[in-house]
Amino acid sequence: MNALAALGPTMTPAPAWGTSLWIARNRPPPATAPFQGTLDTDIAIVGAGAAGTSLAFHLAAAGSEAVVLEASRQPFAATAASAGVIAPQLVRNTPASVIARLGAEGGERFLRLVAVAGQRLFDLATGEGIACDAQAHGFLNPVAGGEGEERLRSLIAEWAPFRQDLELADAARTRSLTGALGYSACLVDPTGGGVDPVAFVQGLAARTPSEKVAMFRDSPVVSLMRRGGGWEVRTAGGVVTARRVVLCAGGGNAGLHPALKKTLLPLAVYQVATARLPAAMRRGILPYGQALTDTSTDVFSIRFDGEGRLITALPASRDMSREELDRAINDRLIAVLLAYERTPLEFGWRGVAWLNPSLLPRLTAVEDGLIAIQACNGRGLALNTALGADLALWLHAPGAHQTALPLEPPRPIAGYAFARHMPGLMMTAAGIARGVVRFMAPQNSQRSP
Ligand SMILES: Cc1cc2nc3c(=O)[nH]c(=O)nc-3n(C[C@H](O)[C@H](O)[C@H](O)COP(=O)(O)OP(=O)(O)OC[C@H]3O[C@@H](n4cnc5c(N)ncnc54)[C@H](O)[C@@H]3O)c2cc1C
Repeated sequence: MNALAALGPTMTPAPAWGTSLWIARNRPPPATAPFQGTLDTDIAIVGAGAAGTSLAFHLAAAGSEAVVLEASRQPFAATAASAGVIAPQLVRNTPASVIARLGAEGGERFLRLVAVAGQRLFDLATGEGIACDAQAHGFLNPVAGGEGEERLRSLIAEWAPFRQDLELADAARTRSLTGALGYSACLVDPTGGGVDPVAFVQGLAARTPSEKVAMFRDSPVVSLMRRGGGWEVRTAGGVVTARRVVLCAGGGNAGLHPALKKTLLPLAVYQVATARLPAAMRRGILPYGQALTDTSTDVFSIRFDGEGRLITALPASRDMSREELDRAINDRLIAVLLAYERTPLEFGWRGVAWLNPSLLPRLTAVEDGLIAIQACNGRGLALNTALGADLALWLHAPGAHQTALPLEPPRPIAGYAFARHMPGLMMTAAGIARGVVRFMAPQNSQRSP
């Protein structure tokens, strides 16, 4: 364990609007000099969010050596922008659609990874003693109406060969678990929950032995070049030569190799945390501490941090002032949560979730010796941590391990100039539909059961 291992979340300091709650509450690692000079290594990792850090940690655990180059001081980009929900469920995909896409054998390999991804993240945090406000209380995916219930029933049946711990809660139990109006059922996944994602990733980095992995922060990679049988990875001050390179820079991957341009779609999201809720209000909302995400609308997601702030999100289809965001978020929470009363927002920040059109993660073999983890899709904390661990086993001993996802060639998205607006447009349409449904079903806006 290295000297940073003791770092964990601190009491949250006064917020700066625009800063993620997780960045505000975690002391950054001590400043180190950006990478300078030259270094030769077997494996270079670009980016130290959930994916890159897990890859580095698990490579070291397997006995491999690596160099990590990270652009900022703390894990940044999507990991720092996220809500910290641990949701070991796929978005808009089911086990059947995964098998249809990846084939029976490949699909099953990936589904086995997804099925344990939440549990593995919590086990890793506990096993390594990472203080990251881990709340392994479960994940709830609520639905409204008979069609939604049917969908959940068949989802549970499709998951049955891989896991038998998913349950369907009826309307009354859904109400008591969530405190939310308008839902008729929900999927209960006991392996989900919430974490402080920056504390988790910083904690994992701190526990990565420095004799195996050299980690350089404040060292953005500016170019990649093929050299002999390997790669030259350049920062402003130095060059790492590596036999193999793994790009874990999230949306930043696109700027590092021309074949990765136009392979991911952006979805901008506002993420907020309210001021701490009073205990009485808190008891009426997610009283058992689970995290909730409803993806059937323009994504309704709520969870509490360990200090009692309610964390939620709104798609950022346009710029919103703090006041506008406060109004929109509060109106939505009041409409859905029976016990909720208007509460000021304490933190608000904006992030970009990078989506594959299939909404499944991809492992991209860009060129010989150059791999990219292309896997945000709004559910990457548990999944990218698991994919990093899985890829580490393959990089360590390629003949002895098969990756959970196939290594596929880059796939630029056709009609990108238009397609890149699709996630935002779909969220806007879902938001309008939600407003219309509420208008036509006034019982929801009147907060009656
Ligand atoms: C607003 C928002 C909310 C989300 N909420 C959730 C949630 O609640 N639960 C969940 O599971 N998922 C959530 N996600 C998705 C999740 O955050 C991501 O899937 C996951 O964090 C991606 O991890 P990553 O390591 O692949 O990429 P990132 O976290 O994006 O990490 C990439 C890293 O690479 C670095 N980098 C970029 N370019 C370079 C470069 N040129 N050189 C060196 N380093 C570079 C960045 O600084 C960054 O640290 C959310 C995403 C967003 C945007």
